[in-house]
Amino acid sequence: MNARPRYSIIAPVFNEAANLPELYRQMQQTMDSTGEPWELILINDGSHDRSGEIMRDLRRQDHRVKTVDFAKNFGHQLAVTAGLDYAQGEAVVIIDADLQDPPSVILQMIEKWKAGYEIVFAVRTERKGETWFKEFTAKLFYRIIYRITEIDIPLDTGDFRLIDRKAVDTLNTMRERHRFIRGMTSWVGFRQTGVEYVREERFAGETHYPFKKMFKFALDAITGFSYLPLQLATYVGFAIAGLSAVAALGVIYARLFLASQAFFGQATTLVVVLFLGGIQLITLGIIGEYLGRIYDEVKGRPLYVVREAQGFSDAGNR
Ligand code: UDP
Ligand code: MG
Repeated sequence: MNARPRYSIIAPVFNEAANLPELYRQMQQTMDSTGEPWELILINDGSHDRSGEIMRDLRRQDHRVKTVDFAKNFGHQLAVTAGLDYAQGEAVVIIDADLQDPPSVILQMIEKWKAGYEIVFAVRTERKGETWFKEFTAKLFYRIIYRITEIDIPLDTGDFRLIDRKAVDTLNTMRERHRFIRGMTSWVGFRQTGVEYVREERFAGETHYPFKKMFKFALDAITGFSYLPLQLATYVGFAIAGLSAVAALGVIYARLFLASQAFFGQATTLVVVLFLGGIQLITLGIIGEYLGRIYDEVKGRPLYVVREAQGFSDAGNR
């Protein structure tokens, strides 16, 4: 059918009915200004509002809009993964459907891509209309992640980015289940650079990333890219064992030479035992986090289930 589009824009959609028409309008304006063929892939991540119908209408209106319908909500990162699987463009752009990432920034990304960069991420210089809690936890999250992992991208970078076909093909071979896509795109290497932008307020609706999801996302990011939490047990173990050895010598000395009643008492003993018990449970929990993820990988289930994919020309897609 059509020649391969030069650009694929992929947008995960979860209850974004109020944003889709405006997203399409801005995208069409921006992408048409490039004068090159493009496609917009909307992944319906199990929305229960009218997103699905609106996506279908947009596809009927404009054949460059393509749609993938998930059988249920699989989560943002997996929706993006499906987009990467289906995209056919030479350059693929990941963007949120709520217009927090302004489509016009894509033009700057394309410029960098044409200058030879293979991954162009968008760095938020400012975030508008987010609660102080979201901003604070996000800031903390990025700083922890970048401190304890080898992810080498600037702080405050989301998934909004352009990825060259070569890197997309590599990413598509990485089928891990608990995904931190911005970490994975950093991991593949290639020539990377950033463009700055101001993150806008949502055009309509509210965030679908409540604290619980953010927390899980943070755990996926950390466990996916760092062993540090597992190693903490070793460090803390050595520290406590070392301290205890010194304390034991101290106690023996005191009992032999000081004839004092020091270091006795139920309360002290209880506190120490409970403290250690707590540390042991935390350590077990950390092992559990990794173990559960290994279990998920071993099961080898598909990453997502598609009810229907529409608008894709060749059957070569997954
Ligand atoms: N999203 C999704 N599945 C989910 C949650 C979110 O596909 O389970 C999409 C959502 O529609 C949006 C993007 O992921 O396009 C970012 O989500 P959101 O705006 O809620 O997150 P925030 O920008 O507040 O971090
Ligand atoms: Mg958003």
